[in-house]
Amino acid sequence: MDSTRRRFIKTTAALASLLSLKSLAARSQPAGSAPTVISTWDFGKGANEAAWKVLSAKGRALDAVEQGVWVPEGDPKETTVGLGGAPDREGRVTLDACIMDENANCGSVLCLEHIVHPISVARKVMEKTPHVILAGDGALQFALANGFKKENLLTPESEKAWKAWLKEAKYKPVANIENHDTIGMLALDASSNLSGACTTSGMAYKMRGRVGDSPIIGAGLFVDNEVGAATSTGVGEEVIRICGSHLVVELMRQGNFPQEACEIAVKRIVKNQPKKSKEIQVGFLALGKNGEYGAYALQPGFTYAVYSNEVPNTIFKAPSYY
Ligand code: ASP
Repeated sequence: MDSTRRRFIKTTAALASLLSLKSLAARSQPAGSAPTVISTWDFGKGANEAAWKVLSAKGRALDAVEQGVWVPEGDPKETTVGLGGAPDREGRVTLDACIMDENANCGSVLCLEHIVHPISVARKVMEKTPHVILAGDGALQFALANGFKKENLLTPESEKAWKAWLKEAKYKPVANIENHDTIGMLALDASSNLSGACTTSGMAYKMRGRVGDSPIIGAGLFVDNEVGAATSTGVGEEVIRICGSHLVVELMRQGNFPQEACEIAVKRIVKNQPKKSKEIQVGFLALGKNGEYGAYALQPGFTYAVYSNEVPNTIFKAPSYY
């Protein structure tokens, strides 16, 4: 037997055993179904409720994710998203959001002030402009021209917390504590189409102009209708460095289940930043084309909410590296 042929047989045998491993694992992966909606953190539950109204009426995943994330965006008590979000160190509430549909259409706003629902401005960018991203004053100008109302997003409570922070003015993101948390939502509709939305006020007391992963397509959110969708939360700088959500989707394309894909992405962060990764939180959440889902985080404490015909809007704890 020549060596090329021997090599081919060896590779085929290795591939066959890999495939049988995968199919074994497939049996242990909980089966998914359409429609399904999943979203980050405990506040995902209220958001899922709104999204499910759209999905259960056979609505579009895109409408479901937009209407789902409106819930925390409009809630002044949620200090990490939309109205009532913690400001930057100069006291300004600057919001980041993006949205992506089943046809790879996407829209995003960066550092947008005064608008309660940045996700809907992001959707307008996607649908009404030739661009993907609008930032800062330009994004505000576009929002106002499209009928959004200018509002004060700094609530008395978040102003008080910011003033207390100013006394020491130490910037130290603490895992799972209220100075960060984004809502990332992924939905699969009854027609088996995927969409996602991601919206945040970003890291509390960030530098003026700082933008995290959340509004960056491929970092905070990515949707590929053939494969699946992913979103992230936590210290955005670390997610951007690995193009996190795009990485998770590509790992699913290579045959990894959603949770495995999230785990590999988290391990990439650990490899890049072994010391820093011990002190910060990053979590990924993924939804496969058939409704299977999974999550993985650096630290314990990352939760996510799932709503489908089989799972009645339930909060789960993601497994973690540390
Ligand atoms: N990822 C967000 C950011 O870096 C914050 C968060 O999810 O906690 O802006």
